Amino acid sequence: MEKEELQCSFCGKKKADTNLLIAGIDAHICDRCIEQANGIVVEESNQNQEDKLTSDIMLKKPQEIKDFLDEYIIGQEQTKKVMSVAVYNHYKRLLQTTTDDDIEIQKSNIIMVGQTGTGKTLIAKTIAKMLNVPLAIVDATVLTEAGYVGEDVESMLTRLLQSADYDQEKAERGIVFIDEIDKIARKSDNPSITRDVSGEGVQQALLKLLEGTIVNVPPKGGRKHPDQKFIEVNTENILFIAGGAFDGINRHISKRLNMSAIGYKASKEEEQVDKENLLQYITPKDLKDFGLIPEILGRLPVLTYMNPLNEAALRAILTEPKNAIIKQYKKLFEMDQIALSFKEDALDFIVKKAVDYKLGARGLRSLCEEILTDAMFLMPSKNDKKLVVDKAYAKKHLTRTEIKRLKAVS
Ligand code: ADP
Repeated sequence: MEKEELQCSFCGKKKADTNLLIAGIDAHICDRCIEQANGIVVEESNQNQEDKLTSDIMLKKPQEIKDFLDEYIIGQEQTKKVMSVAVYNHYKRLLQTTTDDDIEIQKSNIIMVGQTGTGKTLIAKTIAKMLNVPLAIVDATVLTEAGYVGEDVESMLTRLLQSADYDQEKAERGIVFIDEIDKIARKSDNPSITRDVSGEGVQQALLKLLEGTIVNVPPKGGRKHPDQKFIEVNTENILFIAGGAFDGINRHISKRLNMSAIGYKASKEEEQVDKENLLQYITPKDLKDFGLIPEILGRLPVLTYMNPLNEAALRAILTEPKNAIIKQYKKLFEMDQIALSFKEDALDFIVKKAVDYKLGARGLRSLCEEILTDAMFLMPSKNDKKLVVDKAYAKKHLTRTEIKRLKAVS
């Protein structure tokens, strides 16, 4: 009997019609079928990666986002609410599939106004942690227009890439927190006198990034590594959060409020302006009067403010957040099997010092550090397994000179 000619078990092609026929245990496969199968494998794996990125982002509902923020951030209710909605919408936009209705959801970049140490950076960090996306924190004061001494605006994308372990797709869904945005306000009302390379010039340079553009990013940063290969980063889906103290903006706010009170019949609300916290009335116009150009404001459409932290808030910050300062110290001591506890009067004392010396929330940590330094130095090599910090202990370990020093560094 004539030997049956071998054929591909997938497409049925005879061996003579293929370039290559590979034998398996009970079957054969031709070169074309291998290529096709490979194509399917690659496509599947890309799809899986897409799905993974989407699930990595872990989209939560605004209320859930706020609940998460509540665990870490004391007070700032309005901002937490506004941020929750903005972040939710941003990531909804990111997950949107192309539809035929031509409605394209625009980016919801955010600007937060509030004194330093009120939790702006903390909010950005907490959101990035919740969404499991990379975060770059950059300081607007180091940025200059391209070609001038300082960092180009693209450097923030280098940071983001680094924080995403050079995973370009991950970086493209990350968050950039631009701190001290107020420092790049226009220096004078007349931009034509001298070139304003670290003010309005930077604002101009930022416009495209904020809106969404493709940038060639040097992965190791600008100038020191001229030979590196650039990575293309699309900023369309990067969420930009800008923050700044805008010292002196109250003047613009109160001027506007007064003017509107004169111009129109003062409404009940306007009569009851809370002069202690004018920031709550902030509008984009005030930021424009402060020196941000309208184009920048247009690209940071979500505006929110931070309340100054009062004594009660500082007290809560010490003990309540998920990783509150006191909890962290307890854990540190626990690692040496030492039970650390604070008496109420000691906590009140720390808060009072932070308020008296205007150290703010950031000062709380330094105050605790000073109070506990001796104990942290001595106790690990001693047999004492318990430390109770009361007001007397705190007072004893916090000398005047130390407070002066803290004041100088904060
Ligand atoms: P900002 O960016 O506004 O200057 P940060 O977010 O860097 O302030 O705050 C500094 C530190 O102070 C934080 O790391 C945190 O420990 C504490 N802190 C400030 N505000 C809050 C807050 N509202 N809730 C909890 N902790 C806060």
